[in-house]
Amino acid sequence: MAEYKAPLRDMRFVLNEVFEADKLWASLAGLEGVVDTETAEAILETCGQIASEVLAPLNREGDEVGSTWKDGKVTAAPGFKDAYKTYIEAGLNGLGGNPEFGGMGMPKTLVGQVEEMVQGSNMSFGLAPMLTAGACLSIDVHGSQELKEKYLPNMYDGVWAGAMDLTEPHAGTDLGIIRTKAEPQADGSYDVTGTKIFITWGEHDMAENIIHLVLAKLPDAPAGPKGISLFLVPKFLVNEDGSLGERNTLSCGSIEHKMGIKGSATCVMNFDGAKGWLVGEENKGLACMFTMMNYERLGVGVQGLGAAENSYQNAVEYARDRLQSRAPSGAQDKSKVADPIIVHPDVRRMLMTMRAFNEGSRAFSTYVGKWLDVSKFSDNAEEKKHAEAMVALLTPVAKAFLTDIALESAIAGQQVFGGHGFIREWGQEQLVRDLRITQIYEGTNGIQALDLMGRKVAGNNGALYKVFVEDIEAFISSQAGNPAADEFIQPLQAALESLNGLTQWVLEQAANNPNEIGAASVEYLHVFGYTAFAYMWAKMAVVAMANEGDFYTAKLATARFYTKRLLPRYIGLTEAVKGGAEPLYGLTAEMF
Ligand SMILES: Cc1cc2nc3c(=O)[nH]c(=O)nc-3n(C[C@H](O)[C@H](O)[C@H](O)COP(=O)(O)OP(=O)(O)OC[C@H]3O[C@@H](n4cnc5c(N)ncnc54)[C@H](O)[C@@H]3O)c2cc1C
Repeated sequence: MAEYKAPLRDMRFVLNEVFEADKLWASLAGLEGVVDTETAEAILETCGQIASEVLAPLNREGDEVGSTWKDGKVTAAPGFKDAYKTYIEAGLNGLGGNPEFGGMGMPKTLVGQVEEMVQGSNMSFGLAPMLTAGACLSIDVHGSQELKEKYLPNMYDGVWAGAMDLTEPHAGTDLGIIRTKAEPQADGSYDVTGTKIFITWGEHDMAENIIHLVLAKLPDAPAGPKGISLFLVPKFLVNEDGSLGERNTLSCGSIEHKMGIKGSATCVMNFDGAKGWLVGEENKGLACMFTMMNYERLGVGVQGLGAAENSYQNAVEYARDRLQSRAPSGAQDKSKVADPIIVHPDVRRMLMTMRAFNEGSRAFSTYVGKWLDVSKFSDNAEEKKHAEAMVALLTPVAKAFLTDIALESAIAGQQVFGGHGFIREWGQEQLVRDLRITQIYEGTNGIQALDLMGRKVAGNNGALYKVFVEDIEAFISSQAGNPAADEFIQPLQAALESLNGLTQWVLEQAANNPNEIGAASVEYLHVFGYTAFAYMWAKMAVVAMANEGDFYTAKLATARFYTKRLLPRYIGLTEAVKGGAEPLYGLTAEMF
């Protein structure tokens, strides 16, 4: 198995050359004095080192031994506790946090790269800081001053960790039907009672305290999603002076045995009148939780990318070494019994697909990170509004498209190994198993697609969609005097026009049949994704053309591969969408 190497060169390319992060950061009032290229470089280097030297070596044992449960206590997978200590001592835990409470206030464009390295080297481990960061964000945006002062500093430091408690046995996608109850108490706190399942790192021994953000219903709450409130429920109560007090009445009933990410604990959490505090307003909990979930959704997309990058690195090394058959054009190395498999067109196809998807994903997640930064750090109201529209539209694409293609990549990475890809010691099958959950949690990819097509595109008559189209059109216009870029601009233009037509078509059909949106949505999200990636690849190609050297030559070749071999998939997908909803309903439920 190859050693995971943080893809720092490509991260620098995306950050500094494609998105000109130094200019972006300097233009945002909220980032003044916070970050420059040198600081960013130091953070990337530190994280890259921790990822390859500390986290990656624990990944296999994490899978084989896993986290374990005994009498309500969860012991994190071997080595995780020490690795967590190293991670937090390096200051990586509170990178994106609010400086007023001890966070470092770093932009998402940078934090996203750090997340990729952590997730790429060890996804099970990476879930812990990811959930803490999301919980902190929700507390910071919606919590009272008192809650922020009491909890955020220790959470940013990593001394305390966070968990997200939404799911119940009968309520996953449909959170409106949760049963967990919160009874108001005279002292302003609430007693929370109920059972949550599938709670990632809901219990463990890496941090001194675990801060749960729990969705529950007040006794008089309206039915459905409008009756949900959000509560902060700590594992240990916190005294006035900030020290840890008595154990709260919540416990971990068991952990799941699952297909992948075995190093992480997926917990059943029982709340028995546990003391909690309201975050945000009563009955507005879902909106508060969405602050966290949106953050996690981009994070899950990046998780997919991280694991797919790891798979790519292994596959390339193997394809260079493994000797099988001769190249179609004749023997490449007559001194050997066969040529390395990297000579074969099909192996090339798999490696190039992985590379084009991974580098495209890195650019796209940084692009979404850019809009998150503008929405958070700009002092210009118009600019903020525009960026918020972009974030809203692109988040489901970042979650679902990136994870769908990441699984395709990881399976290709396994296929490159032939039978050895099925065998544990090479690590490829673990990556496939680990990655699979990214399509399911944080809202299944089917639900992401509905969010994109139904709420974000159709829900406001295409207003958000238009903002994205205008951004691509502005880029296309900016290249009018650059004929060398035509080979990328023309296919991008064609894909965009096709997407415009498809969007219009679905909106028209939806007016007559309520099933049309849901029938179109998954393929629509993919057409959207392929078009968005054509935009990313055109942007990267333009930068690559203006530079010399192997890195840029490879970048341009990968851009060509994407444009010629992957982008045309949108044509078939568009036809599939136009097949409409009717063919889905030819059978009654009994006929299946
Ligand atoms: C390993 C793991 C870790 C997890 N971590 C956490 C965590 O930390 N915190 C937490 O709260 N939860 C967590 N989850 C739960 C996860 O988010 C849910 O499993 C997921 O949201 C789906 O819910 P469900 O399993 O109940 O599926 P269901 O909601 O029952 O969905 C079943 C199928 O029906 C489809 N479906 C449902 N409704 C619709 C609809 N309206 N339109 C179209 N299709 C629909 C879904 O897309 C899916 O294909 C985790 C789950 C796992 C397995």
